[in-house]
Order: sequence, then structure tokens, then C-alpha cells
Amino acid sequence: MTDLDDLDVIVVGGGGAGLAAAVSAAEQGSSVLVFDSEKELGGSTQLSAGLITAAGTSVQRALGIEDTAERHFQHYMDLNQWQLNPGLVHAFCAAAGPMLEWMIGLGLDVPAALSSDAHTPGLSRAGVEDVWRGHVPRDQGYGLVQVLDKARKSHGVEVVLNTRVERLLHEDGRVAGVEADGIEVRARAVVVASGGFAQNPELLRRHYPEALDAGDSLFVVAAPGSRGDHLAFAEQTGGAVTGDGWGLMLPTAYFQRHHHWQAGFPPVSRINVNTTGRRFMDEDASYAVSGGAILAQDGPVWTVFDEKARLGLPTGYADWTPDGVAAEAAAGRLAIAGDLPALAAAIGVPADALTATVARWNAGLPATGTDPEFRREQTLAAKGADQRPDPVATAPYYAARVLPAELVCTHAGLEIDPQTAVLDRTGTPIPGLFAAGEAGGGVLGMRYVGGGNAVANALTMGRIAGVNASRTA
Ligand SMILES: Cc1cc2nc3c(=O)[nH]c(=O)nc-3n(C[C@H](O)[C@H](O)[C@H](O)COP(=O)(O)OP(=O)(O)OC[C@H]3O[C@@H](n4cnc5c(N)ncnc54)[C@H](O)[C@@H]3O)c2cc1C
Repeated sequence: MTDLDDLDVIVVGGGGAGLAAAVSAAEQGSSVLVFDSEKELGGSTQLSAGLITAAGTSVQRALGIEDTAERHFQHYMDLNQWQLNPGLVHAFCAAAGPMLEWMIGLGLDVPAALSSDAHTPGLSRAGVEDVWRGHVPRDQGYGLVQVLDKARKSHGVEVVLNTRVERLLHEDGRVAGVEADGIEVRARAVVVASGGFAQNPELLRRHYPEALDAGDSLFVVAAPGSRGDHLAFAEQTGGAVTGDGWGLMLPTAYFQRHHHWQAGFPPVSRINVNTTGRRFMDEDASYAVSGGAILAQDGPVWTVFDEKARLGLPTGYADWTPDGVAAEAAAGRLAIAGDLPALAAAIGVPADALTATVARWNAGLPATGTDPEFRREQTLAAKGADQRPDPVATAPYYAARVLPAELVCTHAGLEIDPQTAVLDRTGTPIPGLFAAGEAGGGVLGMRYVGGGNAVANALTMGRIAGVNASRTA
């Protein structure tokens, strides 16, 4: 039984970052207590695909892939236009590989096999990296949480569920515990791992207003506990906040309301056009870059496909099915036309440009297997698609508006240093206070480097936080 009068570390939140912190603190011999506001552990981590970006791992080596933390760091910083603190990002990249080995040691299974998607266990392409770094574990996010929870139990770390930490005890310039359900519980160090704020519209307005630009199309897939309590803790303790304006919004069709596992996928045989009626992107580009490419256009973006593509959609999904598309078209929300000039008129793009764009597409990838303009054959191959897409050639033709509207995670968090100590507004660590995961700001940046960025951040920085909170204690 945990002695509540003599606790070393309290962890606020039992998702990926919190559980990694709790287990690593317990490994150091600390007494640890975890609070979670929900009825079960796991947070967004449990809902995730569990994909982890890491470099120089045993999985990569077993596949003959040479990679280093330095290379990961360079890619990470370049993609984020060096707008992040290099010291912090370097610490993250250096520790991500060892974190994966630690998880494997705790029982995580990541087979040494190439994977063509975020759901098949193995090594996949995470984003736009030159060497593959996306580690997909067996049982995905659920598997991650199970592995950490088992380790937690083996160390005798207790969890208090259904209990939301409301306040940090901030006394004499240091953090000395938490208040939850009106009860004060003291500890020598506190790790804030309470996730992001995707479920809190007011905090979105303040810290990530771009998410609200999606209007009625916005839907949030982050876990219900993502209420942004870390930002209230920042106000209470004088902690600095970094990462405003950044988060992960996945591109979706305007009518989609579920993560793609439930929503289904748009047809492979489609092209995206902007207001000029021309393609501007590889339609299968990673969301590391695709959301930014769409937002950079001067007006709406449409995905164009034909009747053959609609009829070829698999059934059994919530949104992208033959009937789902037909119902949207019948309701007048999705453009449908008997020929391309009429479709162009319906979506307000030049008819000659759309007709030429479709002709160029039809003469390219569907006919020859290569897409000279956007090299889409490369991304399709990485996704394991071995069949050429069909031409867009069978009436009626459809156009659905696509935009970044699926809010996955938020990046504004308590500013941390490479040891995950929370900094005040002068850049000085606040004694006794650590943060990790979405609650700890500075690692997740303007560009999500690809599938696995956020889980790697949660587990890596959570593990570092557990070790350093123990040292304080
Ligand atoms: C559907 C989906 C798929 C995703 N897929 C991937 C992926 O494959 N790879 C990837 O890298 N990222 C993915 N992400 C993002 C990633 O899962 C999250 O960014 C990451 O797991 C966050 O971890 P965390 O520990 O910071 O937060 P969480 O896992 O959300 O944990 C925070 C915990 O804190 C609790 N909490 C909140 N406030 C309090 C409080 N005041 N007191 C006590 N407890 C509190 C919450 O209940 C929650 O359990 C995905 C996200 C979603 C939603």
C-alpha cells in the first residue's frame, strides 16, 4: 500500500507519458502515485495506432537499415524549419531509440518486418524521412498501454482513477504535490502528463485557433481527458507555455466524422485539385506535409474521382462507402456531374484546366505507372499498393471538398528543458515540476514529422521525466 505521507513522485495522467514516467521513476526506486481523471488508463495513447518514430533501433538493424539519432535530429529540425530548441530536440532524438528498446524489454512486440501501413506490426514509413522510422507495435496503442500497465503493477505503483487533479501545490517557489477531489497529496516531485487540449474549444481558441478554421467540418478524435489542465497548471505555477498555434490536423473530406479506421478511405483513383483546376500535391503524401500543402492553397481543395472509383469503395465503413458518397451527392453536399466541364462549373474551377489535368493524370500513372509531376508511385509503393490507379474516366464524376479537419493532438504545452523540468517565464526550472507528452511543450513542432511523432514524444519524454523526478525526490 502506498504511504501517502511519504511519496516521492506524483504523476498527473495515466496515458503514455504518465505511465512511462511512473514506471521509470519506480525503476529508480521511487514511491509513485498516478492520478487519472477518467475511468480507465490510456488516454489518447490507448486510442492511437501506437506508431513510434525512433532511430538506430534493433528493429531497423535487423532489417539492414542504418540509421542514427543524429540523422533523425537533422530531419526533425529541418522539417520544423529550426523553429524548435535544438538542445531539447536532440535530447528527444537521442533517447527515442533507447526508449523503444526499453519498451521491447518490458514486453512490447515490434516485429522486424516491413509494414506498409500504420496498422500492420513492423517498420513503416512514418512521414517523409529518408530512412523508415515508423515502428508499429503489435496491438497498437492498446498494446503500449498494456505493456506499461503491467510494468506499473509489477513495481506496485498505484493508480487513482476517476480523479481529476485540479491544482498543483505551489509553495515557497516549488511544487510540493497536488490537490484532487479537495484533498491535498504531497510529494517531492510532480510530473504533469495530462495530455493535450483538443477537447477544450476555449483553449483551442486561445492556443490553436487554426483548428477552428475547419468550422463545421472539425471533429476531434483525441481522448476525452484532453481538456488542457496543464495550461491551468502553467498559470498557477508561473510555468511558461510554448507551441502555440501548432497541432496535428489530418486532411479529411468535409463529410468525414470518424478517424479513418472507422471512416474508411477515399478511393486511390482520385486526384486533388485547387481553385486553378490543377493538381498541386501527391494525394498520398504523408500528413507530415499534406495538411500544410492543402492550407497553402489559395482557396478550397477538391478531391475528384469517378463512378468506377465510387463503386469500388469497400462497404462496412462509416463515411467512405459507395452508399455514403451517393447519399452526400444526393443531398447536394458533394458535387456530381455528367462530364468534367459541368463538374468544373459545380466547384468553381476553370473547365479547360480541370479537363487538361484529368487528361494528364489519365495519361500518367494509370497508363504508365509513373506520375512525373508528383511521383505518387513512390508513396503508393511505400503503402504496399501494387496496382496502378484507374483513370478518372467513367461518368458521373464527383468532387468532395478536402481540408485538414480531424484534430488528433495539440502541441502547446508547459515549456520543458532536456531533463523535462518545467521552465518559468525567465527560463529557470521550477523546482519539483516536470512535464511530458502533449502537456510538455517544445518537442512537437509546427510540422508533425510523421506517424509516431507524438507517441514517441510521450514515451521518451515521459521516461526521462520519471528518472529526473526521482533524482529530485
Ligand atoms: C485516434 C488517434 C490516433 C493516434 N495515432 C498516433 C500514432 O499512431 N502515433 C503517434 O505518434 N501519435 C498518435 N496519436 C497522438 C498520440 O496518441 C498522443 O499525442 C499521445 O499518445 C499523447 O500522450 P500523452 O501521454 O501526452 O496523453 P494521453 O495519452 O492523452 O494521456 C493523458 C492522460 O491524462 C489524463 N488527465 C487529463 N487531465 C487530467 C487531470 N487533471 N488529472 C488526472 N488525469 C488527467 C487523461 O485522462 C489521460 O489518460 C493518435 C491520437 C489519436 C487520438
